Amino acid sequence: MTLEASALQGRLCALLGADSVLTEPGDCAPFLVDHLGRCRGRARAVVQPRSTAQVAQVLELCDAERIGVVPHGGNTSYCGGPIPDDSGNQLVLSLRRLNRIRSVDPDNYSLIAEAGCLLAQVQAAAEAAERFFPLSIGSQGSCQIGGNLSTNAGGVNVLRYGMTRDLVLGLEVVLPGGRVLDGLTTLRKDNTGYDIKSLFLGAEGTLGVITAASFRLFPQIRVRATALAAIGEVRAAVRLLAQLRAASGERVSSFELIPRVGIELTSRHIPGVSDPLATAHPWYVLCELSSSRPGEPLDEVLEEALAAALADGVVLDAVVVRSERERAALWKLRETIPEAQRHEGASLKHDISLPVASLPDFVARAAAWVATHVPEGRLVAYGHVGDGNLHFNISQLPGTDRERFLARAAEIRRAIHDLVREFAGSFSAEHGVGRLKVGELERYASPVELELMRAVKRGFDPHGIMNPGKVLREP
Ligand SMILES: Cc1cc2nc3c(=O)[nH]c(=O)nc-3n(C[C@H](O)[C@H](O)[C@H](O)COP(=O)(O)OP(=O)(O)OC[C@H]3O[C@@H](n4cnc5c(N)ncnc54)[C@H](O)[C@@H]3O)c2cc1C
Repeated sequence: MTLEASALQGRLCALLGADSVLTEPGDCAPFLVDHLGRCRGRARAVVQPRSTAQVAQVLELCDAERIGVVPHGGNTSYCGGPIPDDSGNQLVLSLRRLNRIRSVDPDNYSLIAEAGCLLAQVQAAAEAAERFFPLSIGSQGSCQIGGNLSTNAGGVNVLRYGMTRDLVLGLEVVLPGGRVLDGLTTLRKDNTGYDIKSLFLGAEGTLGVITAASFRLFPQIRVRATALAAIGEVRAAVRLLAQLRAASGERVSSFELIPRVGIELTSRHIPGVSDPLATAHPWYVLCELSSSRPGEPLDEVLEEALAAALADGVVLDAVVVRSERERAALWKLRETIPEAQRHEGASLKHDISLPVASLPDFVARAAAWVATHVPEGRLVAYGHVGDGNLHFNISQLPGTDRERFLARAAEIRRAIHDLVREFAGSFSAEHGVGRLKVGELERYASPVELELMRAVKRGFDPHGIMNPGKVLREP
């Protein structure tokens, strides 16, 4: 029997203090819709605990009363994960007040942060200790580190440093029922049975609430060299990446594919963005080398590698940046593509990944399919191509009907994701499953994988209170 609304509110206020329990519609509203306005829900209340102990008290109460709990970070994710369903029975648990950097240990190259710290705050804390925290994504000023862990976020440095998962040493997690898994180790080596923490990374709040994490840090970056290279086809990007990796001794930290239309859209809609090259080309690569060794001549390495690639026709033209201002301008061009797309109407987005070597054939097949079957849209495919991740977006052409275009989303998604499977890729590279891709997981995961995932879910959360309906459908 679930508690009546007023009784629940009373119990929560007694546990957390009245100022930590929001029930007024205006106060709750920002927690009930995602940042794109695609997912909406209702909730009994929004709670904002201040400590791990308070999170534990909330989960103990909710487990006993069978109340679904929806962890809510910075609300920047793309699959509706932090938004409750529309039953009005769930509780939103915001992590924003758990926002302390607990410790930084420069000698151990490690840092412990609470889940509600903004990603930018974690980066700054590492920087202040002359260390580098490499996770870098466009939303870093508003997403929380707990959200990054729960979506296993990727970003622009994955090629060199890996996904969020690869940066984690330990976790503190509150489990349904209120027990606390206290695993904030800073050990590099610890082969003592199952790697339990791994299960919470990318779990999107379906197994427990992450309250803090310990991370590995790296030497600060002292030198960077950045260039935009024009290429004629995606195959050239794959070749250029291989050449740059060999020439630079693994100094490539970012390698982003940009289509011509990406430059046109950003130049048209984003103040301060313009085409850095004199003539138009079909594709571009934004590549960056970086090193923590002061004085390393990375500009020279990059220029030589690009000159060789120009000579053998892999690259058609290139510009190497000469200042931090020019570098920022190139990154702005890359990072504002989604914003520029919005100026021209709706987009159908597909966050896919493929084996890097398969990218050229996949893009050729998928682009031909789009050209034939989606005359009202145009392809805007860009992304972290160094790790095989493409944001394979189809933008509505100006003058076409928005609703008719959006009505085709499911049919188009099916065709693209089926093709991704044919190429042994993934339908969700870095954005997770949330509530929007539950059906995709059911379609593309093997029966064995689904069975194991359901067993893990039952084992951690027998009453199904953690973010119900996300990742896995209700049994
Ligand atoms: C401009 C922009 C650029 C982006 N670029 C990238 C990119 O390059 N790479 C990338 O991977 N993503 C990117 N994203 C997506 C997004 O920023 C990431 O998914 C991010 O990790 C989400 O963090 P958040 O704090 O906003 O989480 P939320 O959106 O609040 O939540 C995400 C999921 O995690 C759960 N959750 C949140 N906190 C906790 C917690 N403490 N414990 C348990 N569960 C929790 C939620 O219930 C939800 O299921 C971008 C988004 C935007 C808007």
